[in-house]
Amino acid sequence: MDTIAHWIDGQKAAPKGDRTGDVFNPATGEVQRQVSYATVAEVDAAVASAKKASASWRHASLATRTRVLFAFRELVNRHKDEIARLLTLEHGKVLSDAGGEVQRGLECIEFACGLSQLLKGDLSENVSTDVDSYSLRQPLGVVAGITPFNFPAMVPMWMYPLAIACGNTFVLKPSERDPSVTNLCAELFAQAGLPPGVLNVVHGDKVAVDRLLEHPDVAGISFVGSTPIARYIYETGTRNGKRVQALGGAKNHMIVLPDADMDLAADAAVGAGYGSAGERCMAISVLETVGSAADKLLPRIQERIAALKVGPGLDPSSQMGPLITRQHQERVAGYVAAGASAGAEVVVDGRTLKVPGHEKGFFLGPTLIDRVRPEMSVYREEIFGPVLSVLRAQTYEEAIGLINSHVYANGTAIFTNDGGAARKFQHEVEVGMVGINVPIPVPMAYYSFGGWRSSLFGDLHIYGPDGVRFYTRNKVVISRWPDPRFRGVDLGFPQNR
Ligand code: NAD
Repeated sequence: MDTIAHWIDGQKAAPKGDRTGDVFNPATGEVQRQVSYATVAEVDAAVASAKKASASWRHASLATRTRVLFAFRELVNRHKDEIARLLTLEHGKVLSDAGGEVQRGLECIEFACGLSQLLKGDLSENVSTDVDSYSLRQPLGVVAGITPFNFPAMVPMWMYPLAIACGNTFVLKPSERDPSVTNLCAELFAQAGLPPGVLNVVHGDKVAVDRLLEHPDVAGISFVGSTPIARYIYETGTRNGKRVQALGGAKNHMIVLPDADMDLAADAAVGAGYGSAGERCMAISVLETVGSAADKLLPRIQERIAALKVGPGLDPSSQMGPLITRQHQERVAGYVAAGASAGAEVVVDGRTLKVPGHEKGFFLGPTLIDRVRPEMSVYREEIFGPVLSVLRAQTYEEAIGLINSHVYANGTAIFTNDGGAARKFQHEVEVGMVGINVPIPVPMAYYSFGGWRSSLFGDLHIYGPDGVRFYTRNKVVISRWPDPRFRGVDLGFPQNR
C-alpha cells in the first residue's frame, strides 16, 4: 500500500518515523493509503529548508514572484479535474463540489498573482522640509499553515499562494485525513518554477503541529479547523511570540421571514444544509423560521430532500457523498439521537439510509429536525453533518437575538423580499459573513474571510487584503538627503517644519 511522504526542500522526503495513519475512501469504508506522521526532526528539516530558502526568496523581484505564481495558476487550472478526483477519493464529496472547491482555490491564486499591486506602500513627500516618509510591507520569514479535512485543496490555497507572493516561505501541515491533494499541488508549484524550500509539506498530527507552534524560526501561523484546536493554536502560538490567525468552527443560522420567496428559500436551505454532507464551515445548520414561515417552508424542504440522490462522489448522479470517517458518522448520528430524546421531532431521519453496493461507506442521509429548542445540544454544538435543525421563532427580534448570543459567529443568512428588513439584519447581526438571499456568503478572493467570537481567534481575517496584512510587516522610513543646513547637535524632540 502507498505511503504518502512529506515534501521537503523541493522533493519527496522518505519518512524517517514509523508512525503512519490510515487514509480511507469514505465511499467504500476501505483504507486506500497510509500517510506518514512527521517526527520533530522532520518538521525541523522542513523549517530549516524554509528558512534557508527565505534568505533568497524574500529578495526575489516582484516580477519573478509574479511569473512563478502565474505559471502555478496555469498548472492548477490544467490539472483541475485530476485534483478534484483525488479530492473526491479521499474526502468523499461529489465531483462537481470538488471542482467548485478547486475553482475557489484558483481564485485565491489569481488574487496572489496581483502581488505587485498588493504590496505597494505609501509615500508622503515633504513631511518636514526636504524630508520624505514612506512605508514598506515586508515578509515575516517562515510561516506555517495547519488545515482541516473539509477543503483539502481550497483552504491551503487561502494561505500559501498569498504568503509566498508576499515573500515568505511556507511549511504546510494539511489534514491527515485527505493529504494527497496537497502533495500534488506542491509538485505543481515546483514545476511552475518555485525554488526548493519555499513551500514544504509535513504530514501528521499533534506532534508536527506542536513542533511548529514552538519552533523559534516560525514567525507566523495560519490555522483553520475546529474551535477547541483553534483556541489552543492561538494561545500556544502567541505565547511563543508568533503572529497567529486561527479560524474555528461554526453554527450558521438562516432566518426565513414570512414574506420570503419560499421556493427560493427551500432550494437554498437544502443546498446549503446538505451540500458536501454538511461538512462545510459555511453550511447552514440552523433554520430559523419566523411566524408563519415554517408552515410554508417545511413541506417544500421535505419534498426536495426526498428527491436528493446520496451516493459515492465519483458517480456523476450523486448529489451528496459520505462523511469523512466512521467515527464522525457515529458522532453525527449521536446528535440526532440526542435531539430526539430531548423532545425535538426528527422529520427526516438520515440514519436509516443504505447506499446499495456501498454498505460499508460512511453515509448518513439528509436529516431534518423540527421543533429544536435553544438549550438542546443539536442547537448549541457544531454537528458538521447533513443535519438541519429547525427553530421556530415568533418574531424577527427573537430570531436575531439567538444568532447574536450563539458562541459561534461564522456566517449567517436572511431570506426576505423586504429590503428594509434585510438592511436592518445586515446592520444588527453580530456575525462575520452575512448573506441576503444568499445562503453561503463565502467572500470572493479579493475580500477576506472570517467569523467573529469563537469562530476566529486573532485580529485579521484570512486571504484577500487582510491576508496581505497578516503575511507582511509594516516598516516606515523617514529619509532626508544630507544637507549642510541641518548641521549641529540638537537634543530636542524632532519637530516638523
Ligand atoms: P480539526 O480541528 O480536528 O483539525 C484541523 C487541523 O488541526 C488538522 O490539520 C489536524 O491534524 C490538527 N489537529 C487536530 N487535533 C489537534 C491537536 N489536538 N493538536 C494539534 N493539532 C491538531 O478540524 P477538522 O475536523 O479537520 O475540520 C473540521 C473543522 O474545521 C470544523 O469545526 C469546521 O467548522 C472547521 N472549519 C472552519 C473553517 C473556517 O473558515 N472557519 C473552514 C473549514 C473548516
